[in-house]
Amino acid sequence: MPDWLALYYDRPIELTHGEGRHVWDADGNRYLDFFGGILTTMTAHALPEVTKAVADQAGRIIHSSTLYLNRPMIELAERVAALSGIPDARVFFTTSGTEANDTALLLATTYRRSNQILAMRNSYHGRSFSTVSVTGNRGWSTTSLSPLQTYYVHGAVRTRGPFAALPDAEFTAAAVADLEDVLGQARGGVAALIAEPVQGVGGFTAPPDGLYGAFREVLDRHGILWISDEVQTGWGRTGDHFWGWQAHAQNGPPDILTFAKGIGNGMSIGGVVARSEVMNCLDASSISTFGGSPVTMAAGVANLAYLQEHDLQGNARRVGGLLLNRLRAVCAGVPAVREVRGRGLMAGLELTEPGTDRAHPAAAAAVLEAAREGGLLLGRGGGHDTSVLRIAPPLSLTVAEAEEGAEILEQALRSIP
Ligand code: PMP
Repeated sequence: MPDWLALYYDRPIELTHGEGRHVWDADGNRYLDFFGGILTTMTAHALPEVTKAVADQAGRIIHSSTLYLNRPMIELAERVAALSGIPDARVFFTTSGTEANDTALLLATTYRRSNQILAMRNSYHGRSFSTVSVTGNRGWSTTSLSPLQTYYVHGAVRTRGPFAALPDAEFTAAAVADLEDVLGQARGGVAALIAEPVQGVGGFTAPPDGLYGAFREVLDRHGILWISDEVQTGWGRTGDHFWGWQAHAQNGPPDILTFAKGIGNGMSIGGVVARSEVMNCLDASSISTFGGSPVTMAAGVANLAYLQEHDLQGNARRVGGLLLNRLRAVCAGVPAVREVRGRGLMAGLELTEPGTDRAHPAAAAAVLEAAREGGLLLGRGGGHDTSVLRIAPPLSLTVAEAEEGAEILEQALRSIP
């Protein structure tokens, strides 16, 4: 495997099995999983409903290609289209978030006949040539040889940057002015703005509610499309909303929405939703061999049904709210914790060298290792110097588990050098 493969721990963890909100490693250690919800396990590990749907489908047919229809793909497309909030929606399935965003960029650039894209600073949109080219997070942009002309705008990060100290309304006004300024520098038409409603890899950082709606007003004047990357924020993760864009909905839904990660509960599903005029702008045929595969789609249908039947969005709101309060209490006396932020079951602890604005990656690494020793898996993120601890458990997290995780974290924070 390549040297550039990111691994979290000094001694990488090899997972063998999981159940509910827990996973086990090859040495028999059990961990409470405070990060797998973002990775792929949206509802719960080894959820019997999903396992059965996968096994049943695998026993019938696995053969995959969008050249043929299969019933789970039709059903999932119908459900996702109806949930998306995009009128006259069409859905195309891929196998990853990268590929979903790549498709969104293909659609937007083709529709607008322009390869100019607006993206947010500190963003992450994937690993491929096109998606790296709209990734503002320097720690993950593996090439500067971009096939796209990308302009980065301010606004996604509240804790750093020129508007950091401003209250919401002024922050939004300043970011809109920055957007207008950037557009003034772009020559000819810009195809789209791509943005994560809450930045994931960037450290669970979000703008004030309504910012992308305010951007939308400007974009509409120029005919520029809005692509909402919901790879981390979709399916009720933020508690208050089913999609992250709904916190920015004052001027309507995005033109294109992308999703991936959790919907398959571990099976590889990504996808693009777009209004039909945009989705249908391609003037040549296209297919996906593994996108829409019957087995992954069966997992998606069962997983989404479970999510809705058990109101896991509501659970994210309730348990996430309790967890956030608990985290704030746990971190109150820890000088290296500059901010505890979050929404639903998506919480970030930003670590800085005490009394400064300087990122503290050594502290983040130490806490991650100590939490592992204590039986808790966390995520990491932030800018190039990744010093934000990320918490995103499966959406079925219980109050007792939230409590248990906060206690382990409290111990782990003592290891900060
Ligand atoms: N968009 C966002 C917001 C992501 O967080 C990620 C993955 N971290 C991707 C796109 C890429 O998804 P994948 O790894 O499935 O290609």
